[in-house]
Amino acid sequence: MRIGVLALQGNFREHLALLEGLGVEGSEVRLPGHLDGLDGLVIPGGESTSIGKLMRLYGMDGAIAAFDRPVLGTCAGMIVLARDAVDGVPDQVQLGLIDLTVRRNGFGRQVHSFESDVELVGDPTPLHGVFIRAPRVERVGDGVEVLARLGDEPVLLGQGRVLVASFHPELTGDTRVHERLVALAARPEAAKEGSVGRP
Ligand code: GLN
Repeated sequence: MRIGVLALQGNFREHLALLEGLGVEGSEVRLPGHLDGLDGLVIPGGESTSIGKLMRLYGMDGAIAAFDRPVLGTCAGMIVLARDAVDGVPDQVQLGLIDLTVRRNGFGRQVHSFESDVELVGDPTPLHGVFIRAPRVERVGDGVEVLARLGDEPVLLGQGRVLVASFHPELTGDTRVHERLVALAARPEAAKEGSVGRP
């Protein structure tokens, strides 16, 4: 299995290291052709405005919108994958692959970055979440499943083949979020399941 990590800006190296630890071949994705033959894709955290500008520059916005395999977006990656973002820049890239509205820096700005355990639905062992200028979910569309919460706040969600986390699962050594992506990517029929398409 080969899973790509969008490597335009942000925490892509940490995702690659974690995937390799799971025995998955990871590859850096910078150009549309790098998606060929991938079983899944990670859009990492970083700065969603910068990631979006670089995606446009390299034609990765259209290429990822057309990519039909499982995708995990973390933090800035969650913002890019969501249908709508509040407090974005004008013309912010929104792929609309998951029906969510998120607020950029919704938990506060840099000083408000924090770490906290999150509760995974159906798993009694909490997962340690690192939140860095994290997006906050303001609206969950029909068909979107909440997979983990911080208090009452949804912080890990899925819709069909698309998974998003407002925290940074690549920074703690806990592999459970990436294992979900790998499990989806192992299923050939994943492409047919869900994703809301462009608004
Ligand atoms: N606040 C950043 C943004 O809007 C996301 C932060 C992160 O990915 N750690 O893109």
